[in-house]
Amino acid sequence: MGSQVHIRCSKCGVFNVNNDHCEACGSLLSVVKQREIVRAKRDKEVLKAELEKKPSSFELYIQKMRNHRFWIVRIFFELIYTTWVVAMTIGAFIAWLVAMIVA
Ligand SMILES: [Zn+2]
Repeated sequence: MGSQVHIRCSKCGVFNVNNDHCEACGSLLSVVKQREIVRAKRDKEVLKAELEKKPSSFELYIQKMRNHRFWIVRIFFELIYTTWVVAMTIGAFIAWLVAMIVA
């Protein structure tokens, strides 16, 4: 205790002591809180963009083929799709392993 934080308001120029908000105009003074607000806003926007993202044409093509009227085509694409997913999982695991070894 005992340490005083003097912050000059960037909006009206009034000096404030130990205040997050300006005494005169009420604008936010704390840089940490300003950063938190900016970060929270950005995280929200990223999440929103992720949710709004439509499946790629490749994914749509796979989905279409997996619902194909010929069972042989369905099984063929099911196999390719499964192999692809397994390959991706193994690839991710190897990448993780390499990262762990290097670190
Ligand atoms: Zn102010």
